[in-house]
Amino acid sequence: MNKFLSSKANSIEPYTPGEQPRDKKYIKLNTNESPYPPSPFVKKAIAESNFDDLRLYPDPNVYELKKEIANRYNTKENNIFIGNGSDEILAFSFMAFFDRGDKIYYPNITYSFYSVYSSLFDLNEVKIPLKDDFTIDINDYKNLDSGIFIANPNAPTGIYLTLSQIEEIVKSNKDNIVIIDEAYIDFAFDESASSLIDKYDNLLVIQTFSKSRCLAGMRLGFAFGNENLIQGLKNIKYSFNSYTINRLSILAGIEAIKDEKYFKDTVSKIIKTRENTKKELKLLGFNVLDSRSNFLFVSHKNVFAEDIYLKLKDNGILVRYFKSDIINNYIRVTIGTDEEMSTFIENIKQIVSNN
Ligand code: PMP
Repeated sequence: MNKFLSSKANSIEPYTPGEQPRDKKYIKLNTNESPYPPSPFVKKAIAESNFDDLRLYPDPNVYELKKEIANRYNTKENNIFIGNGSDEILAFSFMAFFDRGDKIYYPNITYSFYSVYSSLFDLNEVKIPLKDDFTIDINDYKNLDSGIFIANPNAPTGIYLTLSQIEEIVKSNKDNIVIIDEAYIDFAFDESASSLIDKYDNLLVIQTFSKSRCLAGMRLGFAFGNENLIQGLKNIKYSFNSYTINRLSILAGIEAIKDEKYFKDTVSKIIKTRENTKKELKLLGFNVLDSRSNFLFVSHKNVFAEDIYLKLKDNGILVRYFKSDIINNYIRVTIGTDEEMSTFIENIKQIVSNN
């Protein structure tokens, strides 16, 4: 206890981001970044940007980027909110759509930041257990009595719900907000739930530039929803920090959205590498969940996950290990380039055969 801290700062258990060790250069398969650089047009726009303009604040409304996103996703600027990473939009959603003490529903295994936000904003989290095979039973989410968060595809399992399953949940919760966190949707071969926002005023869909758009370092996220929901997010943002998105991030975001070809090429390369890695891991005795994201969640029949994680780290490969009960025998492996994944598989072969 420190006497200068609020009771919240004294007691909260913060989210732990994936490790970024500095002792040596690792093959980084632990934070679901893209293995590919951003579109060359992003580089060009930043190189040619007006340096002197950095003395000026950026556009607080981020209009130019909203215009590009609206165009790409066939919607209107007023249905879009832009945040400093989707984490910021998630945090704003907890403030915009819930009051202290409200119930909030999400799966028991999902993005662990939801629980941190629930404690930060004093909400009453209700964790709905996944089925034994880590899938979501959508019937558990129908006709609830408060707001719902679902990551689709889910994290860290990578398992996803179809658009029609999402729609069933949204439709049966007309009086509750349903927030779909689509950080990984571009790797799922399915349509985003953003296509449903005109039909349902209780639906907010959140996406990010950090994964499929190769821009984790720029911190950009975006959300789609009915104008009233977007206004709620704006009310929170403008009560907090008007300039959440810097000038260079805005330029980068615009070019990343416009370069559809680069986006499609990199996403399909990652999907292809994912499917190959899935096959190889299965041959090596791994249980590999059916991930539709840019990572795999895997467990080996003989070697304990924490041992695999530690041995890989010793060998210069970082993956993510969560020491929590139900998933403590799984590792989460971000899909890298083909070359990185063959180094990973070679290492795994050794680890498995030495046991
Ligand atoms: N949602 C999920 C499910 C995630 O895994 C992540 C990345 N850790 C985020 C949101 C946040 O991503 P960002 O803030 O980089 O947009």
